[in-house]
Amino acid sequence: MWMLVPVSFTLKLLSAFLQPLGSLWSSLGALFPRLRAAFWLAGGKKSQQQRGRRKPRETSREDEEDRDLPITPTSVNYHFTRQCNYKCGFCFHTAKTSFVLPLAEAKRGLLLLKEAGMEKINFSGGEPFIHDRGEYLGQLVKFCKRELQLPSVSVVSNGSLIRERWFQNYGEYLDILAISCDSFDEQVNVLIGRGQGNKNHVENLQKLRTWCKNYRVAFKINSVINRFNVDEDMKEQIKALNPIRWKVFQCLIIEGENSGEDALREAGPFVISDEEFEAFLDRHKDVPCLVPESNQKMRDSYLILDEYMRFVNCRNGRKDPSTSILDVGVEEAIKFSGFDEKMFLKRGGKYVWSKADLKLDW
Ligand code: SF4
Repeated sequence: MWMLVPVSFTLKLLSAFLQPLGSLWSSLGALFPRLRAAFWLAGGKKSQQQRGRRKPRETSREDEEDRDLPITPTSVNYHFTRQCNYKCGFCFHTAKTSFVLPLAEAKRGLLLLKEAGMEKINFSGGEPFIHDRGEYLGQLVKFCKRELQLPSVSVVSNGSLIRERWFQNYGEYLDILAISCDSFDEQVNVLIGRGQGNKNHVENLQKLRTWCKNYRVAFKINSVINRFNVDEDMKEQIKALNPIRWKVFQCLIIEGENSGEDALREAGPFVISDEEFEAFLDRHKDVPCLVPESNQKMRDSYLILDEYMRFVNCRNGRKDPSTSILDVGVEEAIKFSGFDEKMFLKRGGKYVWSKADLKLDW
């Protein structure tokens, strides 16, 4: 009995002691997964933060290095007018203004670009032959070749407004004429909007090819691959025309130009996938002069000047303008161009672009 009292007392004491311990363990047991999760999350967050921090630091260092490197405007595309006589559904430089710089101002800007290192100028639009029936363009072409002595002067046009007289007056100053042609089926051109009245775009292309040959201007073709021509086979026609380059672009969406509320075009129905573009390229891989340009290559590998001589930055999928080179100079304005010099070189932006070096069999 004596023995029983201390034993029962001891057991009670023990159970009283163990109860809180048990609840402590059970509490700890319940807490453990949460604690573990908290530690894991904290660790994860920390490593994420480290990863996150490391990446921007690397990127920003690269960006800073890139920013530190002065951009040379080796090759510039000057879209001096937005006006055009065609209505291509995917157009990404639309007639949002009718402004064209006075000739003297445009020449001043071109001189600034030459002093900053420009070697090639490409005049584009809109349609560059529309303003003053091509006289304005002719004066700029002549100025760039004769006064500025640029190695390469080129023009991109839809070809519909070019007359033989223009070649007679200015052909000698022009290195390359690029004509836009997306299809050799006239019905497809009409569907795209590359056409005006009864003019036949394909027949006109043949005529221009002959004039280029006769007046010693290198001939180039630009095509935009889109929903309406993506299945076409152009091999034979391109080979017969024998351009020095056949630039093949993937239809590109630019907010504010061919997409969005304030756009003048809606290019959505024209867009094709990367795979469809690749299939087109694959079908034409035997054409030696083909130069492909996917959306990725196009976006930031061009130095584009608008009608006010402002660089336009397309990096964010729209055209954000800098201040004009006429107001702040080339060095300052070009910082906002979004231009990727590495991509420019990667896409073969620098090539034999002077007709003197092309050694063409006219
Ligand atoms: S020809 Fe060129 S500038 Fe004119 S509407 Fe077509 S894509 Fe636009």
